[in-house]
Amino acid sequence: MKVAYWYNNKDIRIEEIPTPIPGPKEMLVKVISCGICGSDIVEWYRLPRAPLVQGHEIGAQVVTVGDSVKKYHPGDRVFIAPKVPCGKCFYCENGHYPQCTEVKERLPGGFAEHILVPEILVERGTYLLPENITYDQSTFIEPLACVVRAQRQACVKKGQSVMVIGCGMAGLLHIKLAKAKGCKVIAADINKMKLEFAAHMKADIIINAADNVSERLIVENGKKADIVFLCASADSAVEQAWRCVDKGGVIVLFAVPGPDKKVVVPINDFWMKEITIITSYYCGPTDISEAIKLIESDKIVVDDLITHRLALTDIIKGFQLVSDGRESIKVIIKPNEYKEKP
Ligand SMILES: [Zn+2]
Ligand SMILES: [Zn+2]
Repeated sequence: MKVAYWYNNKDIRIEEIPTPIPGPKEMLVKVISCGICGSDIVEWYRLPRAPLVQGHEIGAQVVTVGDSVKKYHPGDRVFIAPKVPCGKCFYCENGHYPQCTEVKERLPGGFAEHILVPEILVERGTYLLPENITYDQSTFIEPLACVVRAQRQACVKKGQSVMVIGCGMAGLLHIKLAKAKGCKVIAADINKMKLEFAAHMKADIIINAADNVSERLIVENGKKADIVFLCASADSAVEQAWRCVDKGGVIVLFAVPGPDKKVVVPINDFWMKEITIITSYYCGPTDISEAIKLIESDKIVVDDLITHRLALTDIIKGFQLVSDGRESIKVIIKPNEYKEKP
């Protein structure tokens, strides 16, 4: 089978390896759709594990199951989480699933024709796709789950003004979810195409991030934002987040600048204004179940975010599209359906 080994964003090698045969408690799945996540292209984050097979937004079909696997059958349509928390440790018990110290096994990446699903993920990381969720839609389960978690951490409520800085795939999902919750949504980005997407997602106020963002915000919204989601890693975006949050408000660092960047927080100002800064990283099982429900019920429509579908052999192009970010939102790799360039 073909597998894409990622060395860095410009060096991704398609290699032929033997298709694995599942042991008694494992299963083999065929990858139908796998999204390229914004985090896949963050080299400082991924390079320590390179070369690796990336891809954690996976919609797959079960091919063969080991003798002891009773829950799944060949032909089943599934989403598989890349790792599962133990559910028992101190962190899990307190809802900090992404901080679980017991995670030992990860799913091999989805940028491959097949994946061997290890026992623990067969048992607790696999979710049957409801009939009305397509494989392409299933690639949004994991990113939407991360968005669900971040909005829960920030206690997003109906009637609040929610600002999203950075309208890539994650930012647009934040816009959709905040709209679904009945918030007034302000979208900011420097890219015109992304702002058009934000408008299409019914963001109430659209601000070109090249303008004076905090000034525009007050003119258009009448006040600063109750909650600001930072979904971009540029230094200027962080500055804007500081300036756009209202008294008593919350800033959520959904994306962060690189580790070599120093961020200065106006802490005295924030102290007097009781502004909270929180971070949100990854998601947990409850968030995944909620994301599935949101997509299944059509409360969150995701099809309108898909801009590209590519063959596995075109994966470099996919990574270029996502890194560049100017003409793509969601790029999906189709390792089995698109054998040649579509
Ligand atoms: Zn992701
Ligand atoms: Zn745990």
